Amino acid sequence: MTAPAWLLRAGRVVDPANGRDEVADVLIREGRIAAIGSVGAVAGAEVFDADGLLVAPGLIDMHVHLREPGYEAKETIATGTAAAAAGGFTTVCCMPNTRPALDSVEVLRDLSERVGRDARVEVHPIAAITKGREGREAVDFAALVEVGAVGFSDDGDTTQDSAIMRAALSASAELDRPIMVHCEDKALAGDGAMHEGDISRRLGIAGIPAEAEEIIIARDLMLAGLTGGWLHVCHVTTGRGAELVRRAKAEGVRATAEVMPHHLVMSDDWVAGDRTLRNVDEPAGPYAPAADPNTKVNPPLRLAADTRPLIAALLDGTFDVVATDHAPHAAPEKQGSAFEAAAFGMSGLELALPSMLALVRAEYLTASDLVVKLSVNPARLLRLPLGTLAVGARADVVVFDPEERWVVTPEQLRTKSPNTPLLGMELRGRARLTLVGGQERYRA
Ligand SMILES: [Zn+2]
Repeated sequence: MTAPAWLLRAGRVVDPANGRDEVADVLIREGRIAAIGSVGAVAGAEVFDADGLLVAPGLIDMHVHLREPGYEAKETIATGTAAAAAGGFTTVCCMPNTRPALDSVEVLRDLSERVGRDARVEVHPIAAITKGREGREAVDFAALVEVGAVGFSDDGDTTQDSAIMRAALSASAELDRPIMVHCEDKALAGDGAMHEGDISRRLGIAGIPAEAEEIIIARDLMLAGLTGGWLHVCHVTTGRGAELVRRAKAEGVRATAEVMPHHLVMSDDWVAGDRTLRNVDEPAGPYAPAADPNTKVNPPLRLAADTRPLIAALLDGTFDVVATDHAPHAAPEKQGSAFEAAAFGMSGLELALPSMLALVRAEYLTASDLVVKLSVNPARLLRLPLGTLAVGARADVVVFDPEERWVVTPEQLRTKSPNTPLLGMELRGRARLTLVGGQERYRA
């Protein structure tokens, strides 16, 4: 398929990889960036009026659950990547929590066929660390990299066996691929369903102490130091967890880390029904009933006091990237369940951009910072030549309106599973056009 030519007219081009933040035209030809600046009329190019809009390299999400194969009632490659495109993402990495798990060459080959058939954006697999994600036997790391794995994770299930983690990190040093860890001491987390603290005690819900996460972050950072391997700490939620990563990086440990929008703007008060976006001076949503299963996520929403140190860690480079942990679940596993029995996870692909834009409006970060954390840095960690609008680069581009107001409803979302506590709230900021290799993948 030949890609059409595009002229994105007079948008604010935010391209930090090339030091650019200015109003300009962007010309796209044959799927690549052809020119940026003042471009006159171009025969045959579709003109898109980007006046008042931001034009940026397409967003890249390192942490997405597409659920296929095996859990198509929650999400499919088709619906999940449609949600990605609607959220401004042009590349996503899919986690191995599938059935079967992404743990063998055969399963990755099958996934690649499905992606080729159904995906609206580029998809790269994160393979499992252990067979069946069961924590007992390591996968063949090199063979899985050969068929496209860009990282390894037993996400959702911490690899409890330190010897297997040591072996995985040793392999990562040679393969130049990250071991992406979900940090949770399962014994300590027990039956916990939310952050352990005053609110969990008041609601009578079993809690997960912050230490359950921090203990494993500390262990895995030590093992990364021991092996020289590449540890990527997923979804850090506490100030102390961030401090552990910061100190390890300063000591020369090869660590990278991510934070999720929901841990920056939501706290455990949300489980009690509060709908105030933390750190953001914007109207709160209406108070919601307590123990809404859509506020249940793992790792859990932590204290409001943790959100500021997380933002600080994002700004000082402790956290390299923002990812969504898009975790769709079908209605019976969420609204159909009591809080304690409900599945962990939030739908996130279509909500990351407006959530992060709220922090831009509150002046914690600039639009360029946002693009660095959601595009430039993920491209770098994934070893992909993306996250840039340089002339000649593949035209993965998002055009978004930072001010558009919209109310989050299931009908407004492309995901199959709108399990988010933002339902019913008015957000600001939305993608208007998403191009992958110059091909239109979403248009509002
Ligand atoms: Zn996880």
